[in-house]
Amino acid sequence: MTSFRTLDSADVAGKRALVRVDLNVPMEKGKVADATRIERVLPTIREIADKGGKVILLAHFGRPKGVDPKESLKPVAVELERRLHKPVAFAEDCVGEKAAAAVAALQSGHVLLLENTRFHPEEEKNDPTFAKALAANGDLYVNDAFSAAHRAHASTEGVARLLPSFAGRTMQAELEALGKGLDKPKKPVVAIVGGAKVSTKLDLLGNLVEKVDALVIGGGMANTFLHAQGLNIGKSLCEKDLAATARDIMQKAEKAGCAIILPVDAIVAWHFEANAPHQTFGVDAIPKDGMILDVGPLSTERIRRSLEDSSTLVWNGPLGAFELYPFDAGTAETARHAARLTKEKKLISVAGGGDTVAALNQAKVADDFTYVSTAGGAFLEWMEGKPLPGVEALKAE
Ligand code: AMP
Repeated sequence: MTSFRTLDSADVAGKRALVRVDLNVPMEKGKVADATRIERVLPTIREIADKGGKVILLAHFGRPKGVDPKESLKPVAVELERRLHKPVAFAEDCVGEKAAAAVAALQSGHVLLLENTRFHPEEEKNDPTFAKALAANGDLYVNDAFSAAHRAHASTEGVARLLPSFAGRTMQAELEALGKGLDKPKKPVVAIVGGAKVSTKLDLLGNLVEKVDALVIGGGMANTFLHAQGLNIGKSLCEKDLAATARDIMQKAEKAGCAIILPVDAIVAWHFEANAPHQTFGVDAIPKDGMILDVGPLSTERIRRSLEDSSTLVWNGPLGAFELYPFDAGTAETARHAARLTKEKKLISVAGGGDTVAALNQAKVADDFTYVSTAGGAFLEWMEGKPLPGVEALKAE
């Protein structure tokens, strides 16, 4: 990632700042059920308002097909106002006369939220005329929504090409943290990739073996690799048709000098449920009727040593069926090791993805990691090494 423009170089006083934020919050009975995403964009909004800018917020909400009152951002404006301790005006459209009138009435230091950008199908098509209509309401553009940056939409990419564009503070923090993870990491770098299936993470594995020094493979996807090596994995989750692909990944890793660390032992149960009776077996002795639900203690120890030998960790995907106690043990213990090494300043730890965030929260160590990304799709695309259109558009020429 090359350098990108930040709010440090933006002159916002008296200017109309179009700020793309992620306000796609979970709702229950018309009220915001989890305000994490709102909290994350407050610093950027406050900074621009405090510097005398006019803050005009752009955001999507849900997946509406055209205008749909159920997907209105209006209730989000109420919660935003409460948390910002400042009035938040609302316009019933993000372009056209209603938006223009609300923007014209906005004073310096004040905040306006425009209605759901996805009420217009042109948003997701990155339609140039629609992007121009959005840009008409701003003198400059700030993107603070990393989680939407993997999509080339009008409000994330098109408009950024039409106005002077800057990264907001949350976007900046995310990009700086990710830069430390893979783009310019302190070596050696170890990656942990777990989760259910190889098929959903092929691009990710392919990119990582080229970039990291060691790759720990755990979770259900490790079973496919064990099977590909000719081992019997009983009734474990496995994508047998991907055995050749798994072998290709291992060959690619060998060529690139990346050590692949697979489980050497496993916790096996006979039912996929919490507290199911279980036993530890070496991976060469998995019972025919058993299911691997977690990495075993020898594997966890091996992973711990690989963390100790590394300066940077990038992690996506749990090492076992972490939702089912006690099959969270390998993931939780590894998470605690990583957290301890991070606190001791021996490791830079970057993790992300929905289940990974849940697993780190469950192990109560998410706050001890260097950075935990809640961005989901955008985080995975970054791990896959793909350029993110919303980020590319912010790069300094
Ligand atoms: P993903 O969304 O690909 O990161 O996969 C996460 C899911 O993988 C979680 O729901 C885990 O329960 C599941 N998982 C991890 N290890 C195993 C395993 N050994 N067997 C079955 N499911 C697993």
